[in-house]
Amino acid sequence: MKKTSMMAVILFLTGMLCVFSLFFFNRTADRLIVSTEKDVDSAMEAISMKRDEIKNAEKSFADAIEKTDANIKRLKQKARAAQQPAERERANIPMEDSSGASVFEGQASEDVFSSEAPHIVAIDPGHQSEKIDMSDLEPNGPGSSEMKAKCTTGTQGAFTGIPEYSLNLNISLKLKDELESRGYQVVMTRTDNDTAISNKERAEYAAAQGAEICVRIHANGSDSGNSSGALAMSPSESNPYVSSLYEDSNQLSWDILDSYCSVTGFTNWGVQYTDTMTGINWSSIPVTILEMGFMTNENDDRQMNDEAFQNVMASGIADGIDTYFSR
Ligand SMILES: [Zn+2]
Repeated sequence: MKKTSMMAVILFLTGMLCVFSLFFFNRTADRLIVSTEKDVDSAMEAISMKRDEIKNAEKSFADAIEKTDANIKRLKQKARAAQQPAERERANIPMEDSSGASVFEGQASEDVFSSEAPHIVAIDPGHQSEKIDMSDLEPNGPGSSEMKAKCTTGTQGAFTGIPEYSLNLNISLKLKDELESRGYQVVMTRTDNDTAISNKERAEYAAAQGAEICVRIHANGSDSGNSSGALAMSPSESNPYVSSLYEDSNQLSWDILDSYCSVTGFTNWGVQYTDTMTGINWSSIPVTILEMGFMTNENDDRQMNDEAFQNVMASGIADGIDTYFSR
């Protein structure tokens, strides 16, 4: 009997030991699982952080490539311009030598580009006097069978009576002075109202003189006296002649239009895309037309023909050109 109860006690204790150890191991396993889950979570978090980092790096890499591409494009443009016949002639003039002396030293105090050759800008004051016969035809673009008049006479101030060609020239001459004071070199397609130069010739002349961009100055007219404000014109992406100039021309158009409207307070009608302008289709450099305002609107007409306001207009256009070249 005593032996039996001893056995029972031993069996009971062994049983209890098993139960306790099961309980103990179970808890340890639970704890292990929880901490492993925590490790997995933090690893996942680290992975997603790394993934974000990679995404950001990819984005800045793509941005850098885009910027480099744009720079290469601009440099190519410059190189192309430098190969023009007129540019080659200019190369005979001694440029900067190793001592750092510059042929542009005389204007160095105001020259924002004094450390390098100045940018060359062509200004094309639209139209010319009605006394000049420009009714002969010329092709609308290289290889085009569509013929258009060499030039038209444009609109005129409904309130001031001032012809568009005259306003265009006034602003263009002010813009020339403003750009030169900022260190640019300027090429003018005409400096009086009696020069007979066609739209095709203007485009070709600007590029042949080594200009990097061509800014065409115009004013608008409308049947309604209520239309007012400014817009720019640029070749479309699918222009059959100059689609390669689309991007830079578009940028130039927006840069000039935005700064012009911001200083004049004129309504900004945005950039219109056109493939029917002879002076655009024959261009080999980025080109824009600025329609400065409506000469058929009393406020636009009077303001655009006010001397002080004209200086503001010219500085707004020059600001846009600064922006374009600073990109
Ligand atoms: Zn015009």
